[in-house]
Amino acid sequence: MKIAFISDVHGNLEAFTAVCASIRYEQVDRVVFLGDIVGYGANPNECIELLQTLTGHSVAGNHDWAATGRQSTDSFNSVARDAIAWTCAQLSTVNKQFLMELPLTLEMNEFFCVHATPYMPGQWRYVYNALDAEDAFVTFKQRLCLIAHTHCPAIFVKRADTPVVRELSSQVTLHPGSRYIINCGSVGQPRDGDPRASYGIFDESCSQYYLVRVDYDVASVKKKILQAGLPDFLAHRISVGR
Ligand code: ZN
Repeated sequence: MKIAFISDVHGNLEAFTAVCASIRYEQVDRVVFLGDIVGYGANPNECIELLQTLTGHSVAGNHDWAATGRQSTDSFNSVARDAIAWTCAQLSTVNKQFLMELPLTLEMNEFFCVHATPYMPGQWRYVYNALDAEDAFVTFKQRLCLIAHTHCPAIFVKRADTPVVRELSSQVTLHPGSRYIINCGSVGQPRDGDPRASYGIFDESCSQYYLVRVDYDVASVKKKILQAGLPDFLAHRISVGR
């Protein structure tokens, strides 16, 4: 079985459509969505509707709940807050209901899936480095924890009682004695310096996880963001991947 992990679409329909085509090409059996389908981008409703055709396995991101009022935007910067106000005004009632009902975590066989961190998932903390990962490893029991939220792909490995190591490669063959925290990056707003859409695939048959990068029409998305009256910065950052 092949499972695709996707996250942080943020209303970017062009990136999401390109990733859906890649998922079909990769012949994936199941898709898990790790949160933030809306916020920042110009097509929140269309992205929710596309997600619903793709999978029933989804968790909430902070932007998903903020756009429904379930989560406060006090901790958001002004650009994110403006984008949430815009998104909230665009969302249909049924799509808001869908976002509001997304759970914070999902446990599936050997996977623990969450947008931010496996501990206090509703506090929306970040796992940026091996030290952050060290704290997180003690708070879930499964072999793999799939996360998102930073918009930067990463693989953290814990072998027995040795310190957590960050894999430098974007793919890894899973060892029976190790546990993993994996961030699949962002479909709609990557921030690792590579503007291509990012998602991850776990291939059970060979016990391998690998990252996939997908080109899409960034220029159209920039134009849409500006035409919608969303902050200019949001149009700029998707072309540089920061
Ligand atoms: Zn996000």
